[in-house]
Amino acid sequence: MQENGNKNEDIEKTIIPYITVNDFFRRMSKGYLLLFIVLPLIYIFLIILNYGIIYDVTTENIAYNAETNLLEYSVELDDFLYPAISIMESMSYNVEDMFRTKSGNDVIEQYLIRESETLDNMSDIVSNGIYGYINGEYLDGYQWVPDGDYVPTERPWYKEALKNKGRLAYVEPYTDSMTGYKVMTISKLLSDGESVICIDIRMNEIQEITESLAKQEDDTGQVIVIDDEGVVIAHSDPGEVGKNYLLSLEEPEHTLATKLLMEGISEFSIHYEDESSIVYSRKLGGGWYMLSVTSESKMFSRIFQALGNSVAVGILGTVIILYVLIMITRKRMEIENYIIDLKSASSIYLCMYKVDLDDDHYVEISCKSPLLSSLVGSRRRDARNLMAEIINIRVDERNKKDMLEFSDLKSLKERLGKNDTIALEFMNAEMVWDRARFTVAERNADKSIKSVLFTIEVIDEEKKSRDRLLYLSETDSMTGINNRGSGENKVKNHILNGEGGMFLLLDVDKFKHINDTYGHDIGDKVLIAIAGCLKKTFRSNDVVMRLGGDEFAAFAPSVLSRSGGELMVERFLKRIGEINIEEMKDDKINVSMGVAFYRPDDRFTFDELYKRADRCTYESKTHPGSRVTFYDNMEGI
Ligand code: GH3
Ligand code: MG
Repeated sequence: MQENGNKNEDIEKTIIPYITVNDFFRRMSKGYLLLFIVLPLIYIFLIILNYGIIYDVTTENIAYNAETNLLEYSVELDDFLYPAISIMESMSYNVEDMFRTKSGNDVIEQYLIRESETLDNMSDIVSNGIYGYINGEYLDGYQWVPDGDYVPTERPWYKEALKNKGRLAYVEPYTDSMTGYKVMTISKLLSDGESVICIDIRMNEIQEITESLAKQEDDTGQVIVIDDEGVVIAHSDPGEVGKNYLLSLEEPEHTLATKLLMEGISEFSIHYEDESSIVYSRKLGGGWYMLSVTSESKMFSRIFQALGNSVAVGILGTVIILYVLIMITRKRMEIENYIIDLKSASSIYLCMYKVDLDDDHYVEISCKSPLLSSLVGSRRRDARNLMAEIINIRVDERNKKDMLEFSDLKSLKERLGKNDTIALEFMNAEMVWDRARFTVAERNADKSIKSVLFTIEVIDEEKKSRDRLLYLSETDSMTGINNRGSGENKVKNHILNGEGGMFLLLDVDKFKHINDTYGHDIGDKVLIAIAGCLKKTFRSNDVVMRLGGDEFAAFAPSVLSRSGGELMVERFLKRIGEINIEEMKDDKINVSMGVAFYRPDDRFTFDELYKRADRCTYESKTHPGSRVTFYDNMEGI
């Protein structure tokens, strides 16, 4: 029996991924779970580790940079001051030489004027020429004449020179009233112990150098030049020039000067302009100090920025890796789910194969039959071979032809058409009922079938209970022959198939009397006996039925002649005569029958056939004893 399944277009809609977050974490393998925890932990560990390394390296680097920069700057500043210092050294040497040769002050003054002119042309850092207090007289190479109240020995340059005892003295800067330049005097006490020689240096050059150095530092702090008394010679903030930090009442300037000049600490931390800062210092020629004050937070902001960037990139990378892992895991789980579903669905089958119709290849999904399993393992996975071998091993001879047609893969696509499944029930070699089924597994974009599932299922129990139900629904329970519904349907089918035959209708005579005389049970026995006579008289292909009460009918296909019909009726009546029911003693059973024929070329309905036979039965009733009336006799009645 071949059956066609209904097509189900919604089937694809129901197969959707169904992994919940819960499901995901519950079912994720331990290794993966560990990875999900360990990966971020490793990442955090690396960040901490690297942060430590970066911090250390950077701090060292910053300190090193600050020191080397300071060295570089101080050399630059020393270089700047060097010409003025060397001029001072050679000048004082020459004047002392003039002392030794007893040259007069007028000679010395001429010398100073000459040198001042030369310096004017040569150097752009020296201002106001060379001047000094020599042999108790103020001499000025620039030929500047001081006011009457100008007392040279009271001037800071003189006092500083005395204090420095022959070493160069750098005097606090002041604004020159003549030129408007901020200048600083370098003075030196000469060998006579009272004469002092000076030159003025333009401070703006030193200030410019200092400011440009601060800029090189990316403005992360201040660059300061301070003398040994705490006076600011130059400052990256020009407003600070001239202040005395040692005497200053303001913090942190006072601390800075105290630590550097009083305590002699060259590298220390202070709180400067509301920020924690590191001070590096270096001593310059002439008792000056160059300092760099670097803000820690500004300094480290670059490290934090770099670290922040690497953290962001790292987190992004980790998120991407986790995302990819999640996707891969999800996909794997979906596939696992499908396989689990397929396996559990396949468990009801004896075996399940997936067959690719385009290349005739198959894959075994499950097989509980050792015989079929061994067969599959030993062959190339050729689907046609599989079908042939299954038929050979599994199918009973009587069903082999049907199964060959059913399992023909060439015509399978056509036979399935738009349906999703077709099935065939067959008897296997052990006389047990099986069902073979093709179910569409995949379709191409054009809806043509790509692959199918081929299953074999043992349905013996199901088949038998189904057959039993069918038997019960079609059978008259008392007599065991067809009931009216199934009997009539079978006769109608014969007629529809163009098969003619003899239709016989039968009613027991005076059956009420039998019931009344011998009881209902005996009446039943009579009905069962009559059904038995019908079964014996007619062949297995014929249809015999109980219409109800004491009425029966039979249809014998291919019996089309009256003589053939009479022969059968005679045989039947003979058997009726032989019925022997003890309780009925010698009481005979009589039946009234009517026979009508349906010839293959007849076009009337079953109802008409029935009516014809019924009229004949009625006719027979009018005569006592068993009797048959053929419809031929009735014609014209
Ligand atoms: P006639 O010769 O005209 O056919 O008379 P009859 O007595 O046979 O009358 P009829 O065929 O109309 O009655 C059939 C009787 O069969 C009526 C009913 O009581 C009886 N009967 C119907 N079904 C059963 C059954 O299952 N068992 C028994 N014992 N009797 C039945
Ligand atoms: Mg009757």
